[in-house]
Amino acid sequence: MIRILLFFMVATALVFGAVWVADRPGAVMVDWMGWRLETSVMVLLIGLVVLVALFVLVTRILGGTLRLPKTIGRNRREKKLKRGTLALGEGIAAARGGDVTLARKLLKDAEKLVPGAAGVSQLSADTAAAAGDLDSAEKAYTAMLDNPRVQASGRRGLLETALARGDKDKALVIAREAMAAGVDAPWAIGALFRLSLDNRAWDDAEIALTKGGDAILSPQDDHKAIRAALLCAQARDAESAGSNTAAERLAKQALDLNPELVEATLIQARALAATGKEKKAHQLVIAHWRRQPHPDLDAFYMAPVRDGDPLKAVKRAEDLAAVNPDHPRSHLLMARAALDARLWGQARRDLEPLAHGQPSRQVCLLMARLEDGENEDLAKANAWLTKALNAEPDAHWVCESCGGVLPTWEPRCGVCGSLGWVSWRTTTRDLAPAAE
Ligand SMILES: [Zn+2]
Repeated sequence: MIRILLFFMVATALVFGAVWVADRPGAVMVDWMGWRLETSVMVLLIGLVVLVALFVLVTRILGGTLRLPKTIGRNRREKKLKRGTLALGEGIAAARGGDVTLARKLLKDAEKLVPGAAGVSQLSADTAAAAGDLDSAEKAYTAMLDNPRVQASGRRGLLETALARGDKDKALVIAREAMAAGVDAPWAIGALFRLSLDNRAWDDAEIALTKGGDAILSPQDDHKAIRAALLCAQARDAESAGSNTAAERLAKQALDLNPELVEATLIQARALAATGKEKKAHQLVIAHWRRQPHPDLDAFYMAPVRDGDPLKAVKRAEDLAAVNPDHPRSHLLMARAALDARLWGQARRDLEPLAHGQPSRQVCLLMARLEDGENEDLAKANAWLTKALNAEPDAHWVCESCGGVLPTWEPRCGVCGSLGWVSWRTTTRDLAPAAE
């Protein structure tokens, strides 16, 4: 646009100039070294313009002729670069597609046309990997780490090579190195997450989850529940390593995300008790019992009176049961304490409501103990023992994803590999107040 405006401005100026000169006619006479020239001003000006134009034209032609070898050389290089780039692109695609013969041919072309280009290392490594030559692939991917622009791709290649060898430990190291080097692409985060889970490296898995977010989980996964499970697993490891402070902190973080995580409550309570904060530990257990009773909470809470005075144990059981009095597990807790204290009437009051319909195996066994202890009625006791054989098993850890039964709480199902889906219940139904 600016050029067009400039052109019109110059053309207008020339026209006005020509008109101005035409309106002022005059003659010019030149007498120089025997030459004599007589003409008008207009003709002289036109002659000068023609001379200047001829000079520019000749200069350009001469310059072009002198630059010709250079131009030919540059065109050749550009053509070579274009063919080399094309060979690289097609070669990498062929290698990724598994066409090793074509990839090798294009690799040779690229090596000739664009030697030393970073893409040649990539094509060389990918071709070796496609041919199953993992040693050569590893060497070529490692060489790529020297170039900051292609090192991420080199790390990805090294990770894939390690996985192709079945070396998950090495793959995990590479994924960690990639993250440490600032590679936060989905392939690096996803690999770190999956490999950390396989290696039970819960802290790395949590780091990957924090970085990758929902992108590395499936839509039906509960992000918060999974992060809570990973924190709880870290807390368990810290407790095993004797670090009560870390165990308490991690368990608390897990509970903040998922207050129903009984394993986290127990770890935090044990860590508090181990550091002399028994009262706080018991308050924590009571608060969880109010939300959701669990036999492990009952075991922790009753531990101080287990081998002492049975009547004191009854009192302690009543204190815990009082925060959730209608729950069947509260009745079981009180019935067991009453049986230990030989308080038969109290035990019967707690057990009989649970004994109707289809009582659990635990209820049948406690009823047998009651009939034997209170009335020495062996017939009734045996009847309850027989019933216990066919009764529904008591609650256990169940994977909500595949229905698999786990011996202990785990952040990840050992059967289907699902994360954060393990809950405490009977196989067929929940142990809820309305169900008993
Ligand atoms: Zn499962």
